[in-house]
Amino acid sequence: MSINRRDFLKGALAGGTLLATGAPAEARPNLTMPEEALGLLYDSTLCIGCKACVSACKEVNNMPPEFSTPEQLWDTPLDISGKTLNVIKVYQDGNSETKDSETDGFAFMKVSCLHCVDPSCVSACPVSAMIKDPVTGIVSYNVDACIGCRYCVAACPFGVPRFQYDKAIPQISKCQLCVHRLPEGKYAACAEVCPTGATLYGKVKDLHAEAQRRVALKPGEATLFPRGNINTHDQSPHTAKAAKYLPQIYGEKEVGGTQMLKLSAVPFEKLGMPKLPERSYAATSETMQHTLYGNALVLPLAFLGALTYIAKRNVKHDDDADDEKK
Ligand code: SF4
Ligand code: SF4
Ligand code: SF4
Repeated sequence: MSINRRDFLKGALAGGTLLATGAPAEARPNLTMPEEALGLLYDSTLCIGCKACVSACKEVNNMPPEFSTPEQLWDTPLDISGKTLNVIKVYQDGNSETKDSETDGFAFMKVSCLHCVDPSCVSACPVSAMIKDPVTGIVSYNVDACIGCRYCVAACPFGVPRFQYDKAIPQISKCQLCVHRLPEGKYAACAEVCPTGATLYGKVKDLHAEAQRRVALKPGEATLFPRGNINTHDQSPHTAKAAKYLPQIYGEKEVGGTQMLKLSAVPFEKLGMPKLPERSYAATSETMQHTLYGNALVLPLAFLGALTYIAKRNVKHDDDADDEKK
C-alpha cells in the first residue's frame, strides 16, 4: 500500500493534534546557544535592496539562476527555493514613498535560514542529516545521510528547507552560513559583499550587543555601522543616521532564539516574519515524544505530527503550494 504526501501529512497532523491536546508532558527545556556561536545581524533599515547578497550567495554556493520574467535575462528569484538560499523581499504600503515607514512606505527583509538555537529541522530529521555544530551552532546539511523524507521541510517554523523537486536526485536546499568557506578563513558571502553593513557576520554575542546599541540610538543620530565581519573589522564602517528602530530584536527569543538576529523599523509580521513563542518547537515535540515513549503509546508519525502541527500554524510550506498545483 502506498501513501502520498497529502495522506502522510494528514496522518502526521492527526498525530500532532492528539499530542498537542491530550498527552501529559515532562518538560524538556530549550537548548542553549554555544558560547562561540556564529551568525548574522540583518538590519532592514540599512538595507538598500541591491541584492548583492543574493548574487554572492549564488556564486559561492554554485546555485543556478532562477527566472521570473519572460525574457529570462537575469537571475530573478522571488523566494528561497531549491535554487536560491537567500532572497531580499520588499514590503510596500500605499504610495510606497518613504523607506522604513509602515504607512505609505517600503522596507526590505532578508529571507534565509535563521540557524535556530534549538532547531526543529535537526530534531525532526530521523537520520541526523541536519546537524547543529556544537561550537559554531551552524545548522548544516549532510546530503550523503539524507533519505529525502522532508520531515525538516514540514518542521521548520520559518518554512526554510526546500526540496529540489525538479532534480533527478533531489536534495534539501537551505543556507548553511557558508560553513564551507570557514576553513579558507572566509565568512558568509552575503555579509562580505553587503555595502551598507545591513547584513553583518560574527559571533552572535557581539552581534546581539551591536543590535542592542542600535535599538538604543536616537532616530536621526549619526553613527558608524560595522560592515563585513564584526569581529575582524575587515571592512571600514558605514556612516549613516539611525532609523526609528522598533524596540525588538527578532530572533532574540523566537522559538528559543536564532543565530540570525534582525532589526527593523516596520513591524516584523508586516515583513513576513512570524510571531512565535519563546519555547522551541523541538522542545515541545520532544517532550511529547518522550511522554508517549514512557507510556508505550508512541505512533510512528506522532513526533513529526507534533512538529508539523505547530509549524503549520505559522508558515505556508512549499509542499502545500505543490499540492495545490495538482
Ligand atoms: S530556520 Fe528552519 S531550517 Fe533553519 S535552523 Fe531553524 S528550523 Fe532549521
Ligand atoms: S529530508 Fe530533511 S529530515 Fe529527511 S533525512 Fe533529509 S535532511 Fe533529514
Ligand atoms: S547586500 Fe546588503 S544592502 Fe544589498 S540587498 Fe543584501 S542585505 Fe540589503
